[in-house]
Amino acid sequence: MLSLLASAAEFGPSLEGEMMPTEADGVDVAGEPSDTGSVGCSDQYLENGVQLPDLPLFFTRQNPESEYGTTEMIDAIVAATRHMRWLMPEASPVTIGDISHERGGFQSGHISHRGGVDADVGIYSTGAKQNLRGFDVLGANFDVVANWALISAFLDTGNIDFILLDHAHIARLRAYTTKAGLLTEAEAEEIFPTEAHPWDRTGIVRHAPNHDNHMHVRVLCSDGSHAGR
Ligand SMILES: [Zn+2]
Repeated sequence: MLSLLASAAEFGPSLEGEMMPTEADGVDVAGEPSDTGSVGCSDQYLENGVQLPDLPLFFTRQNPESEYGTTEMIDAIVAATRHMRWLMPEASPVTIGDISHERGGFQSGHISHRGGVDADVGIYSTGAKQNLRGFDVLGANFDVVANWALISAFLDTGNIDFILLDHAHIARLRAYTTKAGLLTEAEAEEIFPTEAHPWDRTGIVRHAPNHDNHMHVRVLCSDGSHAGR
């Protein structure tokens, strides 16, 4: 299921081949949103934002007015949570927190979440449970099987730039995936690298403080580039 070739490092504009846009095509190759809406995206503002639809079998929206994203962001959430519904129908719908305001920009309580490319996503406690009213600190109650299923579903979209999560949870995921034979050591090293220090951010799933009760998912732009300022 998990395609390592779709990792952030390799999912680049080269995949577009001859479809790569040029200035002559009437789009701004520097990454600014264009009328076509097909090139680049910003981590500071949102144009043509899409509101996360109400799909209660898949997820619970905490604050729909702060849940606007790029098409890639919304598609990734719907695809990953739909997959969870199919794979683990007994699991709780996934709690979705803030994405961005309709036109992006500053959002209280966040440094990022300004361009519709960041979403806060609940993680499962033991028994594939989610708190439908918010995020719970889980500690050892982290459900490693369900959370790996959700993370791998996000990675399978091919649109994930990185995921922020507490390093203790990352260590649990790495131990589980390698011991269960789901990932080779080399594959695990690509997704959750062994850092000299957990604050070194190089992997696809990487540590950030204050992410022991949810994960933060950042998507790529529609052309595979990183969101720019
Ligand atoms: Zn966040």
